Amino acid sequence: MRQQAWHVLPWIDVAKAFEVHPGKGLSLKEVNQRLTEFGQNMLRTKKGTHPVFVFLGQFKDFMVLVLLAATIVSGVLGEVADAITIMAILIVNAVLGFIQEYRAEKSMDSLKSLTAPEARVLRDGVEVRIPAAELVPGDIVLLEAGDRIPADIRWIQAVNIEVEESALTGESHPVAKSVLALTDELTPMADRVNMGYMGTIVVNGRGAGVVVATGMDTEMGIIAGMIQSVEDEETPLQKRLAQLGKYLVLISLAVCALVVITGVWRGEGFYKMFLAGVSLAVAAIPEGLPAIVTVALAIGVQRMVKRKAIVRKLPAVETLGCATVICSDKTGTLTQNEMTVRQIYSDRRMTAVTGQGYDPKGEFHGGDPMTSKDPLNEALKVAALCNNSILTRKGIQVAGLFRSSSKESPWGIEGDPTEGALLVAAAKAGIWRETLERKEERMGEIPFDSDRKRMSVIYQGKSGKRAYVKGAPDVILRLCKAELTSEGIVELNDIRRRTIMHANDEMARKALRVLAVAERQLQEDEKDDESIEENLVFVGLMGMIDPPRTSAGKAIKVCRHAGIKPVMITGDHRLTAEAVAQELGILRENSQGILTGAELEYLSDEELEKKVMTTSVYARVTPKDKLRIVRALKKNGQVVAMTGDGVNDAPAVKEADIGVSMGKTGTDVTKEASAMVLADDNFATIVAAVEEGRAIYDNIRKFIRYLLSCNLGEVLTMFLATLLGLPLPLLAIQILWVNLVTDGLPAMALGVDGMDKDIMSRPPRAPEESIFARGLAQKIGIRGTMIGLGTLFVFVTALFLGVNMLGARTMAFSTLVFSQLFHVFDCKSETRGIFEVGLFSNPYLVAAVLISTLMQLSVVYLPPLQAIFKTASLLSWQWGFILTVAGGPSILIGLWRLVKNTWHGDTSIARG
Ligand code: ATP
Repeated sequence: MRQQAWHVLPWIDVAKAFEVHPGKGLSLKEVNQRLTEFGQNMLRTKKGTHPVFVFLGQFKDFMVLVLLAATIVSGVLGEVADAITIMAILIVNAVLGFIQEYRAEKSMDSLKSLTAPEARVLRDGVEVRIPAAELVPGDIVLLEAGDRIPADIRWIQAVNIEVEESALTGESHPVAKSVLALTDELTPMADRVNMGYMGTIVVNGRGAGVVVATGMDTEMGIIAGMIQSVEDEETPLQKRLAQLGKYLVLISLAVCALVVITGVWRGEGFYKMFLAGVSLAVAAIPEGLPAIVTVALAIGVQRMVKRKAIVRKLPAVETLGCATVICSDKTGTLTQNEMTVRQIYSDRRMTAVTGQGYDPKGEFHGGDPMTSKDPLNEALKVAALCNNSILTRKGIQVAGLFRSSSKESPWGIEGDPTEGALLVAAAKAGIWRETLERKEERMGEIPFDSDRKRMSVIYQGKSGKRAYVKGAPDVILRLCKAELTSEGIVELNDIRRRTIMHANDEMARKALRVLAVAERQLQEDEKDDESIEENLVFVGLMGMIDPPRTSAGKAIKVCRHAGIKPVMITGDHRLTAEAVAQELGILRENSQGILTGAELEYLSDEELEKKVMTTSVYARVTPKDKLRIVRALKKNGQVVAMTGDGVNDAPAVKEADIGVSMGKTGTDVTKEASAMVLADDNFATIVAAVEEGRAIYDNIRKFIRYLLSCNLGEVLTMFLATLLGLPLPLLAIQILWVNLVTDGLPAMALGVDGMDKDIMSRPPRAPEESIFARGLAQKIGIRGTMIGLGTLFVFVTALFLGVNMLGARTMAFSTLVFSQLFHVFDCKSETRGIFEVGLFSNPYLVAAVLISTLMQLSVVYLPPLQAIFKTASLLSWQWGFILTVAGGPSILIGLWRLVKNTWHGDTSIARG
């Protein structure tokens, strides 16, 4: 079907060709058939690495290769048991590495499916939201500003539609679209103005199209350039760790070479020393680090998903932990976005409206909406007509006869809640758009956008052409010349203007969101552009409540405790913003700390830079102002999280350190510009994500501390022994074993450790801070040295007490393993010792330590393993000695911390 030149056919013929009713869409049966015939609407993306290659990749490390070669040589020379064991350990190591890497890849894949794009379509006469992958040719897609076109379409409705097609044509100026058929079949793609192409972006207007090609049949599919995915970017920390890994490799190699040379020089056999040296290098190089970091990031990200925050760009996870300012929209993020009209002002009179939620039942006190002469009636009529929302019941559009159905199903709205509230208010007075539209027909629309802060529609009826306008009261009033009263239209003099603004302020002070409605009779030949919004007749003000989210209030308290400043940025009126901000605790008592869009305009960038640090609320701002605010905050060294939903918010969201978009109400463009999507549009979710971000970073620090101090301990044991001219305390095979039992499971378990309880009582971390900052390097150095010296001490003492070499080595070997298994519990917290951290709080860690203990005991006691690992059974005094040396430091430090933290009375904010 796709070979057709759809642009030269009238749109109705295109719909016919696809056997679809433009007002109803396809039936589900038809959709299923077409899905089988045409396949999913997806561009083929590159395949992931095959698991076999991921596994083989574990052996590509240079030192592992050297060890493999050495093992083969030793096998050939007759040390078969040794060779097999080393091979086995290497394979188990590779399996562990493989599991880590494979899990990391899989979790990243599942994240991608979470951010998969969606589309709005008509199916069986009902508007539904579906994954864009399920679109089929013939589907009717509904689109508005901010949407990415999900397949190739032929426009069948285009209200001021403009599309940015640079992804396809390179042309960055938006192209205006229409539904009219073109004449020339050879019209180049860029000029086919009645077509919409997959991947391009609607920047203005509203419309619908019939899908003519999907997946690889689309123009984009043919070019096959774009993939819809989470970006696989490495985080700065991952990059820094990769760098660190390289240094560690060099240092380890140098030290290991030294161990080999000194050993040989002291008379040990070259081959034995070589094997020990290479094994030490394998053990000392933290090859598991990158994979564990990825797993920690991916698992943290999944924990965020459970808390409704979907991360699109991995680096944001780290930046989240550094956030110092969270700038949030008001409507829907800090408030519930479930609006109900409470007061209507018209003809110098305030009318109270009763009722709950979206249920169109309620009373009017103070005015009579039933009298058509009453301006209140006209205000409700304008509100109902200048409106694109739909009242629904059980998710089904309520129109005509069904509207009075008495079934007990909840009322809802489809579309903008502000407009929904207006529809409900009108319906309470028996005014329904569907009934009005039997007498007048909509001819045009100038859609709402946050910069214009208003919306207009043009209707044609028996009495001629009329414009109905609604928007922010200050904006609308500026466009009004007259006012509708019960006596007719009168001139809008200064006194009347002031009375209206006074009524507006009164409503706004009660935290009501206020919209003004106005209208005008148009000349038949008037153009359908913004000029129809001039010389309007003011009709009324509608004030609606939008209750704050309770969770947002709590989250704001958490923010303050965590050293993060919450900031509200809203397009709403100053007084409404102030009232809501005070209720939520963003603004304390005084009204200082508020800036309006108008004030902002008069500030230079430098002045704004000074002001931003003391401002908590920005009212009546436009999306452009948001960009200036982000920049000013960043100039002050702040790490800024900024929310956005509309298409115009995308630049600010992109500029912020952590761009946050709305999963429910956000546009595709903003989602794509953002680093994180809030599935529930809730402010509290951002704070939860910050908490998780801090926890992930903490966990990474935990296992880096663990891995590096353990590795340092291993290297020091061997290095000091050779320096002091002692016999080798550990054999190659034993070193590899230590590496396996300690670096494997316990380190992985630390990566998924729970969060510290003081996590949101600390100030944010500085973004440029080194991973070793706040004393981590010292901790690693001191503990690594303790582990090394402890192991040597046990070895030397055992020899001194007359234990034979086999027994002394077994004791050193076990001391090294158990020192690490004790130390893993120290690493759970940087501020609290083993007596305070809750030893059993992480079941994975407990299980990992138990498994490692059992593994070590089998190596010491099972005769076949004794033969391979060159160990001997130990007596109880030997175990007593080993466990004292291995566990002593953890117990002593734990006790000292317990005393210190209890002394200070507050363990939650102790640091260092
Ligand atoms: P936020 O707090 O998230 O910025 P907001 O709704 O207050 O949300 P905008 O969406 O930019 O901010 O709206 C700005 C102003 O435009 C609102 O205060 C209101 O007066 C007016 N407005 C909002 N929605 C509509 C609409 N659908 N039609 C006409 N005017 C609207």
